[in-house]
Amino acid sequence: MAATVLDRALIEDLVERERSAYASANSRSAALHSNADHLFGRVPMTWMNKWVGRFPLYLQSARGNRITDVDGHTYIDFALGDTGAMAGHSPRPTTDAVTRRMSDLGGITTMLPTEDAEWVAAELSHRFGLPLWSFALSATDANRWAVRLARLVTGRPKILVFSYCYHGTVDETFVIVDDEGKARSRPGNVAPAVDPTVTTRVVEFNDLAAVERELAHGDVAAILTEPALTNIGIVLPEPGFLGGLRELATRYGALLMIDETHTISAGAGGMTARDGLSPDVFVIGKSLGGGIASGAYGLSREVAAKVDERVRDAGVDLIDVGGVGGTLAGNALSLAAMRATLEHVLTPDAFGRMITLADRFTIEAAQIIDKYEMPWSITQLGARAEYRFASPAPRTGNESAAAADDLLDEYMHLYMCNRGILMTPFHNMALMCPETAPADVDAHTEVFESAVRELVRA
Ligand code: PMP
Repeated sequence: MAATVLDRALIEDLVERERSAYASANSRSAALHSNADHLFGRVPMTWMNKWVGRFPLYLQSARGNRITDVDGHTYIDFALGDTGAMAGHSPRPTTDAVTRRMSDLGGITTMLPTEDAEWVAAELSHRFGLPLWSFALSATDANRWAVRLARLVTGRPKILVFSYCYHGTVDETFVIVDDEGKARSRPGNVAPAVDPTVTTRVVEFNDLAAVERELAHGDVAAILTEPALTNIGIVLPEPGFLGGLRELATRYGALLMIDETHTISAGAGGMTARDGLSPDVFVIGKSLGGGIASGAYGLSREVAAKVDERVRDAGVDLIDVGGVGGTLAGNALSLAAMRATLEHVLTPDAFGRMITLADRFTIEAAQIIDKYEMPWSITQLGARAEYRFASPAPRTGNESAAAADDLLDEYMHLYMCNRGILMTPFHNMALMCPETAPADVDAHTEVFESAVRELVRA
């Protein structure tokens, strides 16, 4: 079947039309943005300028999977804070636990542990299999500290990552494979302290031969990866790839470090439980605290024993200023939020319902892609799904980066937003939360179809 060829001039006209509609519908947001003279980039964090429409919507309130902006529009939210609000916005069990800790009991950050910490660590062990846990306030920090520990226990300097991976603002990870197959600093990397090709080996996802070639140098402390890439569009592992990574890491004396910050969408125990992975080090953040800052890393007993040995025998400083830790990490508020979210909100039952909805989302979007013969694909990973402007779906980070289309991205996001649907600004990604309903998915399908229909009109 010949795929539909899209008319770029038509897309440009449609984007222009949608931009004007967005600007006139959101005058309060526009005014707040243009008056934000003391904010660098006019936003609290520069990435907020990634929202389409030339200014972001300003938040009024959010509950469950609904967001209301300051101009009074209410949206079905499939962005869910790019997984930070995977539990839904302000889920009641989490806000109750946070209020209790913050106001009834008192004590947000004291440098003292609470009983919640062991409960959360035991739950994480139960879900992901690793026996010992430490806490952070973001996945970025969890990754940074875990990378240090990996270097410590192996005595090796380098990290192996996959081209176009993302693990937060971790210096070692901003490196890609270039057109000649060589490692290079990722385009746009902001003033790295050292050239990341010095600290990092990089290969393409799904390329076990390249992983083995790089590990054979004998200087890799850890392979750091998501079990499916999710930050350059979703790139799923091919059969045997993750098992192969485990086997190669063991054979070449490197640790396998799995970051499930996004891929926890696969189920309550992420892909690690679903696919029987056995990482040496595990990292997670974002969703755990129902929106309250939280992160965690898990260690195998072997890794923990080696860290202890280095602390004992080499004077490594894990309790003061050795480079692992943060004053507010593991604070009482964060732990109370994690406990309530894991115990009552992001439960195995909730994941079951969320995944069923993502099945529905994927099937319905795929039918429309087929019906209009679009050269697109949709990939599902548990409770999340993402459409890509490429078919078949990319199988490496570089292929996926090459499939990006900023104009189409802007069109789809603006079209959706102007009709009450929010998609993740960094992707065409939709995530289900426990409050998402079948009617919300169908509402997306309807708007998706009309967006596509306008693109292919003769
Ligand atoms: N790991 C992965 C896989 C992520 O997707 C992200 C953020 N998108 C991070 C780590 C960093 O999370 P944070 O920005 O909350 O530190």
